Amino acid sequence: MPKFVYDFTEGNKDLKDLLGGKGANLAEMTNLGLPVPPGFTITTDACRVYLEQGQEPPELREQVTQYLDALEVKMGKKLGQADGPLLVSVRSGAKFSMPGMMDTVLNIGLNDESVLGLATQADNERFAWDSYRRLIQMFGKTVLDVDGELFEHALDEAKAAKGTHNDLDLGADDLRGLVEAFKVIVEKEAGRTFPQDPREQMDLAIRAVFESWNGDRAKLYRRQERIPNDLGTAVNVCSMVFGNLGMDSGTGVAFTRDPASGQTGVYGDYLQNAQGEDVVAGIRNTVPLQELEHIDEASYAQLTGIMSTLEEHYRDLCDIEFTIERGKLWMLQTRVGKRTAAAAFRIAVQLVDEGRISPDEAVQRVNGAQLAQLMFPRFDENAKAEKIAKGMNASPGAASGKAVFDSYTAVKWSRSGERVILIRRETNPDDLNGMIAAQGILTSRGGKTSHAAVVARGMGKTCVCGAETLDVDTKRRRMIAPNGVVVEEGDVISIDGTSGAVYLGEVPVVASPVVEYFEGRLGADSPSADDLVRAVHRIMTWSDERRRLYVRANADTAEDAARARRFGAQGIGLCRTEHMFLGERRALVERLILAEDDAEREAALAELLPMQRDDFVAIFTAMGGLPVTVRLLDPPLHEFLPDITELSVRVAVAEARGETSEGDLRLLQAVHKMHEANPMLGLRGVRLGLVISGLFIMQVRAVAEAAAQVAKAGGVARVEIMVPLVGAVQELEIIREEAQGVLDEVKSRTGADIRALIGTMIELPRAALTAGQIAEAAQFFSFGTNDLTQTTWGFSRDDVEGAFFSAYLDRGIFGVSPFETIDRDGVGKLVRIAAEEGRRTRPELKLGVCGEHGGDPESVHFFEEVGLDYVSCSPFRVPVARLEAARAAI
Ligand code: ADP
Ligand code: MG
Ligand code: MG
Repeated sequence: MPKFVYDFTEGNKDLKDLLGGKGANLAEMTNLGLPVPPGFTITTDACRVYLEQGQEPPELREQVTQYLDALEVKMGKKLGQADGPLLVSVRSGAKFSMPGMMDTVLNIGLNDESVLGLATQADNERFAWDSYRRLIQMFGKTVLDVDGELFEHALDEAKAAKGTHNDLDLGADDLRGLVEAFKVIVEKEAGRTFPQDPREQMDLAIRAVFESWNGDRAKLYRRQERIPNDLGTAVNVCSMVFGNLGMDSGTGVAFTRDPASGQTGVYGDYLQNAQGEDVVAGIRNTVPLQELEHIDEASYAQLTGIMSTLEEHYRDLCDIEFTIERGKLWMLQTRVGKRTAAAAFRIAVQLVDEGRISPDEAVQRVNGAQLAQLMFPRFDENAKAEKIAKGMNASPGAASGKAVFDSYTAVKWSRSGERVILIRRETNPDDLNGMIAAQGILTSRGGKTSHAAVVARGMGKTCVCGAETLDVDTKRRRMIAPNGVVVEEGDVISIDGTSGAVYLGEVPVVASPVVEYFEGRLGADSPSADDLVRAVHRIMTWSDERRRLYVRANADTAEDAARARRFGAQGIGLCRTEHMFLGERRALVERLILAEDDAEREAALAELLPMQRDDFVAIFTAMGGLPVTVRLLDPPLHEFLPDITELSVRVAVAEARGETSEGDLRLLQAVHKMHEANPMLGLRGVRLGLVISGLFIMQVRAVAEAAAQVAKAGGVARVEIMVPLVGAVQELEIIREEAQGVLDEVKSRTGADIRALIGTMIELPRAALTAGQIAEAAQFFSFGTNDLTQTTWGFSRDDVEGAFFSAYLDRGIFGVSPFETIDRDGVGKLVRIAAEEGRRTRPELKLGVCGEHGGDPESVHFFEEVGLDYVSCSPFRVPVARLEAARAAI
C-alpha cells in the first residue's frame, strides 16, 4: 500500500519532493529536538493522485485517520472535542516555496461547542471567539471560495460600531457577534452552512489545498519562476499553538542574517497577541525582532539559540516562523531563505570565512542571474532629486515609472509600453499580476517580511515597503507625502530599493560599483570598495580557478574589444564585419553591389580594403594576442541598400518633377533585383562569398594584412576566419581554398608570422548533420545558435516573439523562449551531433558557441556538458558566463 502520510518524526529535509519544503523542514526541526508542535504531512504523491483522478485515493482517508489518532493520543485530546479541543492547522507546502500562493487554514476543530471548551480551557473567552471567527473567515475564503472582502467588511463594521480601528479592542461579545455574522455570510455565499464536524473541516481543507495547486495565482507564479506544473503540493496538518492568547503571546518571522544586505545579526518582525497571518499581511504594524528581548527575554534567548543551531545545521541563511504561547516558544517553519543578489554574494564569502562552506560551495551558492542584477545601474547620488519619503529597503534596484495604484492599471499601462511603479498600502496575492508588470513596488505598510517584500525579492524586483509617512489613497488614486506633495496616478516617481528612498520624478542613474570593479576603475582592495565588491572579486577569482570553458566576447569594435578584455574575456568569439560596412562606407557598398563589371567591383573593393584593415588592426591590438574570430560578411546585401518603398517613392516623386537621377534609377533596379521574400534564407553568408566575386577575398586580405602589420609592430594577432551559413562542405572548400591562397600570398609578401585558422559556423541543421564532412575543411566550429534555433524550429526570430510566443509560453509548449535558453532536446541535439562528428574527423577541432545563448546561465551548463571549448557572449555578459561556467564545472 502506498505510504501517503508521514509523521513529522518520520521525515527529513532531503524529502522535499515527497513532503514539500515546509513538511521536510518541519520534520528536520522535529528530529533536531527543536520545539515543533506535533503533526503529520500528506505527501505530494497523494496530491498528484487527487489531481489526476479528481478524488482522494482510498488509502488516504485511512492513513489520515491512523495518524490523527496517534496525534490525539500524543496531545491527550481529540480533534474538536467539546471540552478543550485539539485544534490543527492545515497548511500547504510545495517543493519550492510559493509565497502567499497556496492557502493555510488555522484553528480547525472549532465549532459552536468546542469554542466554549476552548474558552474554559484557556481561561480566555476573547481568545476562543477570536480563534473561531478566524477559522470561519479563512475556511470561508479558501475552502468555500467566499469573497474575503465580505468578512473584512463585517470586521470593519464591528470595529466602527466600537469606535476603534484596532482588532484588539474587540471583546469576546463583539467577536461572538462576528462569528454569527460570518456564518450568515458563509451560508448566503456558499449555499451551505459552516461545517460543524471537525473531521469534515479537516478533510475539506486538505482537499482545498490540493486544489489550490491549480489556482490561477499559483499557476501564474509557477510560470514566472519556471516551476514545473506537475509537482503537486504536500499538505501539513499541525497541532495549533496560539499567539493570540494575550500580550505574553505573539508571533513573528526571523532571518538568521539580513536577507537584503547579507549582514550578520538578528533580523525579523514580531507582533504581540496575534496569529501567524497577521504579520505577513501587514494588518498591524510589527516591532523589530530585537524588541522581543525586552518583551520576553527567555524566549528571545531561546530563539537566538535556535537560530544559530539552524544556521549551523543548514550552513546557510535560514528564515523562520515562530509563535510564543504564554511564554513558550514554538517553531512553525524554517527554510533556507530567499535573499537579494547582494546578500547572496556577501553571505557566500562570509560562510567561507566562518569555515562553514568551501569555496566550491560558495560558487554554487550564487548564480549568474544574481550577478547580472548587481551590474544594473543605480541612482546617481549627486543628481538633484526631491526625496519625498523613506521606507524600508526591501529589494534592491533603481526603478522609475508612472505611479499606479492598482494591479489592473499596472498591467494595462505596462502592456501599452509604459513603465509603472505599483503603489499600494500593502500588497496581497491578488496584486501579483501588477507586481510582475511594474518596474518596482512601493508600499506604505508592512516590514521586510511583508508580502510585497518577500515576493519582490523572489522576483528580483525593486521594492520599498513600509514608507509610513506616505498617505496612500488607492480609491482616489493618489498619495500624499509629508511635505504636502501630491502624487497623482500617472506622475513619475523613482524608488531606490537599496536605500529605501522615494523620489519625485525621474532620477538619473550611474554604473553600479560592481561594474566599476569589472571595468577596472574600482580595485577590490581599494578603500572605497565595499564588502560587496570584495565578495564579487573573491567569487570571480574562485570561479576562474575552477572553470574549464573559456569565455570570449562578441565584439565588433576596438572599444568593445577592450571592454570585453577588462570584463575577463579570453578572446573574441564573434567579430561581425557587417558593422564595418555602415555609415559613410555604405556608399562604397552600394557601388560594389551596383558594379556592372569586374573593374568597377574591384575599384569599390580596393577602397574598402584599407578601411577594413584599419578596423582589424585596432581590434587585434586591443586583444593583445588573444584569439579573434572574424566572421566574413553574413547579412543579405539589401540591408545595406535603401528601403525599397522609400526609394520607390523618391524615384516617383523625382520623376513627377522631371528630375530623375540616373543613379537612383539604377539603385532601384538593383533593389528590385535583390529583393527577397525570405531574406534570412536567401542570398547571405557563404552564398555571398560564392556569388559576389572578390568580396570574401578582400575581407581575408584585410585580416591578413592587419595581422601582418600587428606582427611587424612587435605584437601578435591570432585570427580565426569564420565562414557563416555553410550547409555543405563543398561551399566551405571553395572559400577555404581562396582564403588560404590570400593568406599564403600575404605571408610570403610581408614575411610576417601570420597565425590564422579557417573554420565555419554551424548554424544550419544540414551543417550539424554533416559535421563529419565539414570538419575535413574546417579547423574550428562555432555554433551560431540563434540561426540554428531559427532554422531548426522554423521560427523567424524577428517575427515570432511578438506574434505567438506568449501563447506558446502560456500553453506550456515551452517554459522559456528557445532563443533565450537553448532547446536541449532539439537544437541541443544537433549541437551534440556536430560536436561528436566533427571531433571524430578532426580530434583537435576547436568548438565554441557565439549565439546569445553563450551568456545564458542554463545554456552555459549545457555547453559544458557537451564539452565545447568556449562560449562567447556580449561583453556585459562575460562575468555571468565566467561564473556559470565555473558552476557548471564543479
Ligand atoms: P505560508 O506558506 O503562507 O507561510 P503557513 O502554513 O506557514 O503558510 O501558515 C500561515 C501562518 O500561520 C504562518 O504565519 C504560520 O506560522 C501560522 N501557522 C501555521 N500553522 C500554525 C499552527 N499550527 N499554530 C500556529 N500558527 C500556525
Ligand atoms: Mg509560512
Ligand atoms: Mg547566423
